[in-house]
Amino acid sequence: MNLSEFLGEVARQPAWARGGERAPHKRLVILYALGRVLSGRRLAKFAEAEHALRELLEQFGPLRAQQHPEQPVWRLARRGEESVAWWELEGAEQVPVDSSGNPSIPAMRAHVSFGLAQELAAYFVSHPADAWLAAHHIAASIVPETLREELVSATLGAGASLPLETHPPSETELVVREVAPSWRIVRDPRFSARVLSAYDERCVVCDIAPRHRERLFGIEAAHIRWAAAQGPDEVWNGLCLCRMHHAGFDRGALTLDENLRVRVARELARDARTEALFHAFDRRPIRSPADASQSPRPEMLRWHHREVFRDPAALVS
Ligand SMILES: [Zn+2]
Repeated sequence: MNLSEFLGEVARQPAWARGGERAPHKRLVILYALGRVLSGRRLAKFAEAEHALRELLEQFGPLRAQQHPEQPVWRLARRGEESVAWWELEGAEQVPVDSSGNPSIPAMRAHVSFGLAQELAAYFVSHPADAWLAAHHIAASIVPETLREELVSATLGAGASLPLETHPPSETELVVREVAPSWRIVRDPRFSARVLSAYDERCVVCDIAPRHRERLFGIEAAHIRWAAAQGPDEVWNGLCLCRMHHAGFDRGALTLDENLRVRVARELARDARTEALFHAFDRRPIRSPADASQSPRPEMLRWHHREVFRDPAALVS
């Protein structure tokens, strides 16, 4: 199995459920397993990996009352009646399954090790740049660009360093698109320019519009409903944000309420600078677009509240 075939297999594990609900659990577990391979420890005992997996789901998955890392680990091993050759689940025969197909967690802890199968792992060990590309591509299908590096280093860790002779994915995007066309997210190239122009090229939160030698920098178009979650490339699904507020918006540290006021997550740590850059804008209205019909649409904001913002209770008060 090579990179293209592997990505084809991963693509068969949906990252999004109906209604744009985030369901990245299997892909996050695959990233974890890829990181294990690169650090030379292919199989992970479920009992030992459980904590790290739960952490990963909490950091990069949607907000849920309880995380269930055992489910993706278990379910990756089968597709319908067939077992999946590239995913290894050692000790599975000792794990009882209930009527809904859920494995016994104590039995998983006692008996199961999991990871990429030997042959695929060997491929990635001898082609580390492909592993890196795969990781970036999978990460791109789960989170927006502002969070991609964070997710890759959280999963690949020290193994994330790329051999110097290889270009980073941003430059080799075309190559990857060639090997894995099914991964392509079709984007409207005018989205960014239209969003920036709708808001006079200013961050809608802090109003900054820095220019150096007359060139604007650090101002970006954010998708409210992520592009990876089929968010449309329309101005009413976009926000013009400075790089810091873009990162905070994608991370769920801030959102907009239905009255288009900034809302900051109460969990965002407070120190003097964070106070000034984030908390000071809490409940302030954003800059309105020149054309009011281009304002952020409520259904896009509701998606962001549900799937990204990490303090939904704050919106009620
Ligand atoms: Zn800003």
